[in-house]
Amino acid sequence: MTLTFTQAPAHIPHWIAGQPHAGTGERSAEVFDPALGAVARTLALASQADVEAAVAAARAAFPGWAAVTPQRRAKVLFRMQELVERYSKDIARLITREHGKTFPDAQGEVQRGLEVIEFACGIPQLLSGRYSDSVGGGIANWSQRMPLGVTAGITPFNFPFMVPMWMAPVAIACGNSFILKPSERDPSPSLLTAELFREAGLPDGVFNVLQGDKLAVDSLLQHPDVQAVSFVGSTPIARHIYETAARHGKRAQALGGAKNHMVVMPDADLDQAADALIGAAYGSAGERCMAISVAVAVGDIADELVAKVVERAHRLNIGDGETPGADMGPIVTAAARDRIRGCIDAGVREGATLVLDGRELTVPGRERGFFLGATLFDHVRPGMSIYEEEIFGPVLSVVRVGSFAEAVELINRHTYGNGVACFTRDGGTAQAFAQSVQVGMVGINVPIPVPMAWHSFGGWKQSLFGDHHAYGEEGVRFYTRYKSVMQRWPDSTAKGPEFVMPVNK
Ligand code: NAD
Repeated sequence: MTLTFTQAPAHIPHWIAGQPHAGTGERSAEVFDPALGAVARTLALASQADVEAAVAAARAAFPGWAAVTPQRRAKVLFRMQELVERYSKDIARLITREHGKTFPDAQGEVQRGLEVIEFACGIPQLLSGRYSDSVGGGIANWSQRMPLGVTAGITPFNFPFMVPMWMAPVAIACGNSFILKPSERDPSPSLLTAELFREAGLPDGVFNVLQGDKLAVDSLLQHPDVQAVSFVGSTPIARHIYETAARHGKRAQALGGAKNHMVVMPDADLDQAADALIGAAYGSAGERCMAISVAVAVGDIADELVAKVVERAHRLNIGDGETPGADMGPIVTAAARDRIRGCIDAGVREGATLVLDGRELTVPGRERGFFLGATLFDHVRPGMSIYEEEIFGPVLSVVRVGSFAEAVELINRHTYGNGVACFTRDGGTAQAFAQSVQVGMVGINVPIPVPMAWHSFGGWKQSLFGDHHAYGEEGVRFYTRYKSVMQRWPDSTAKGPEFVMPVNK
């Protein structure tokens, strides 16, 4: 099998009805290699006509795909699972070159996406309905889960393979067709994904890719033939997606930004906690929605914890994500790097103690790359912008509190509620934390508690708009609607017309 998109092309097209689609070519954008700090290729940006073409392909494919038995649909996903494993290094390399994260980290991303494909292979069982025999004379009633039709997924730059896999395999296994609108920062993995779906035997038009920006997103949100929209990205856009989709009568799930806290109790193993903080705050340059950006030091451990984090931060190896041994790569774009520098400037102005300053880092041999070093603030307080706002970069804030109760109250007051962690050796503290914290995903001595594929992913408060978490059983509910059928065969109807509300006698 020879695949075209294991290498990124010079100009990135859409993927519609089972093949690359140049589109109208009216608009395009640049895609960077952030480690080199240079334009690597260009990208087609969808026009209204391109959106129409993608929706038409997905609409045409839907009835045939919905009629395929769930087991046969699952067979395509089994083959997709094998193909993603076989091409995992190619996918990871594409991610590293456009996102910047290290190659081993990109391989981890592919693995977590693969796990959702594996989950989707078992979806036929979750589609089984409920059946009640003899609810009336000769009458049976059952309910079943039906696909929705054309569904769309709009995804962020920070997981260009994993987040699309939170959506597409589940939507497709449930019998829907799907249009992916990936991030315009790192679009190349979407084409290899499309090509692998085709090789796996997915009929043309069931999985489509529309490259683009706000124009593509807003057209999908308003399109009468799109039934449901899944979104993952920043909170202001998540709110826009949810509100606009609802206004146009679509179901929507919109996962937003985060400010994840990690509480370190006085009884915690401080070396373990410092190791966890270094990986969770600075891994992937902090560009993870589950990154820890606030360490909450409880009691009198703060000085020791900060010293341990600083010692480890000095050993961080920052460079091109393909350099063996790199712990952290560049920031995705120059604009994002400059925005993060601005956040650090604001933290200094607002009076937090800047313990580690990553603003001026340069990497030898990669002088034009969009790098930032690990940055650490101590004595951060609520009300400071570095505490309240999502920075989405390698910036960790330490907040000092006197007690466990204060730590929980601090977290529960925050507007975001995506992930949270507590490091402790005490079972009672762990139990109290897990039950009382107002956050969707909780880790006890686990800094980044990303749920397994069958447990569903989602935050609370401003981190998620909608009723359903992503993937897992929640995903199956999102991508299906309930239908109830009541059935009686003619020879069991001897009574003639009935004018009162049917009751079960
Ligand atoms: P983003 O919100 O800028 O973009 C996400 C998607 O929305 C992209 O496909 C983009 O093209 C599109 N978009 C951007 N602006 C738009 C607009 N004005 N109208 C319509 N569509 C628009 O997010 P990003 O910078 O790509 O990703 C980082 C953000 O995603 C962070 O806030 C991070 O916390 C969040 N995120 C959340 C989760 C989660 O599960 N909650 C997971 C990953 C990332």
